[in-house]
Amino acid sequence: MQVSVEARQHAQALLDFIDQSPSPWHAVENVANQLKAHGFKNLRENEPWQFKKGGKYFVIRDGGSIIAFALGQAALAESGFRILGAHTDSPGLRLKPKAAYSTEGLAQLGVEVYGGPILATFTDRDLSLAGRVVIHTEQGLQSRLIRIDQAVARLPNLAIHMNREVNEKGLVLNKQTGLPLIFGHAANSDTAKQLLNETLAGKLAIPASLIVSWDLAFYDIQKGSFWGLEQEFIADSQLDNLASCHAGLEALLSSETPQATAICALFDHEEVGSESATGAGGSFLLDVIERICHSTGLTQEDKLRSFANSFFISADMAHAFHPNHAGSYEPCHHVHVNHGPVIKTNANQRYSTNAVTAARFIQLCDKAGAPYQQYTHRTDLGCGSTIGPIMAAQLGIATVDVGNPMWAMHSIRESAGVLDHAAMIAVLKQHFLA
Ligand code: ZN
Repeated sequence: MQVSVEARQHAQALLDFIDQSPSPWHAVENVANQLKAHGFKNLRENEPWQFKKGGKYFVIRDGGSIIAFALGQAALAESGFRILGAHTDSPGLRLKPKAAYSTEGLAQLGVEVYGGPILATFTDRDLSLAGRVVIHTEQGLQSRLIRIDQAVARLPNLAIHMNREVNEKGLVLNKQTGLPLIFGHAANSDTAKQLLNETLAGKLAIPASLIVSWDLAFYDIQKGSFWGLEQEFIADSQLDNLASCHAGLEALLSSETPQATAICALFDHEEVGSESATGAGGSFLLDVIERICHSTGLTQEDKLRSFANSFFISADMAHAFHPNHAGSYEPCHHVHVNHGPVIKTNANQRYSTNAVTAARFIQLCDKAGAPYQQYTHRTDLGCGSTIGPIMAAQLGIATVDVGNPMWAMHSIRESAGVLDHAAMIAVLKQHFLA
């Protein structure tokens, strides 16, 4: 399998992006930093917005979601928006507010399950903490990003000698009693709490008494890697869906002067249903679009005309064929790693794709010289969903659900293909140019 230098560079950039983004809040900060470096201006929701023709901007809502846009050269009512949507969050373990306690001298951390991770994959990994901590400062409460770089916590497996059927029945972990992590020694729960608070405070270089609250996620400190005899695969945490966020960002950054207004919208909370102030089910994207229309002087009718001329690509990862589990897939819709972006279809609108939007995406693939594949879930298995149907219902904009093929979705260590990432970037560039 031929892997071009360019494809490898894109894949390496993705792995670097993920390694710098151990939480949704870090992902948003990294996206914002890249946007700023490319001349995008940071707007704030509580300030008035004024635009320059052809200007490039971004806005963050509550740290976990970010919308970037480049105003198009053509009239908005006629050209509409070219939107790419993806999500910044990944399933995993989150630290409870009063997390630390002691069990027979071992310091433990209570965790909540965020979304639907494959819990067994979180055992025996080098886990650390990342996210945001709200602290007292002289200027009032402030939110600070934090990342402990060392492995500080672990969920050791029970030895097979006490779990004799683990290979026959799979690893079953009770979410309340089986998941608390071990993070040190503490004679009692007060000491355990102090140990945790001092670790966080030390990282922030503040006294522990200034910590008020946190949103903290566990992440695996192992960096992303290439694998396969020709190094044609990648492995990392959070490929679902930081790979699509990264592809959207790369495509937007390379679209110098788009004709239609290009939007890259990256949302938190997809893994828990998107119903939040920052999630795709909230008002964020519509608010931003309304303000773009208002600031550029569009009438209500022109705004609705612009919607009718728009196209939304919802990019999230797809289930690649696993040769050891062929029976889990719809036989005529196997999609393969390194064989190109996948169009996802579900007649019951778990995916937003229809014949017209699928054809439009196929046209973009053709223009980009990229292959494409088509996926449907087995008819007798429940199909997952994405932000696609949510956005389509909210905006009334033509929408397609796509994504790159991957293995082990929602494992702490997922896999995908080097070639597919470069192909997705190329197709999304065509989307933003069209
Ligand atoms: Zn996803």
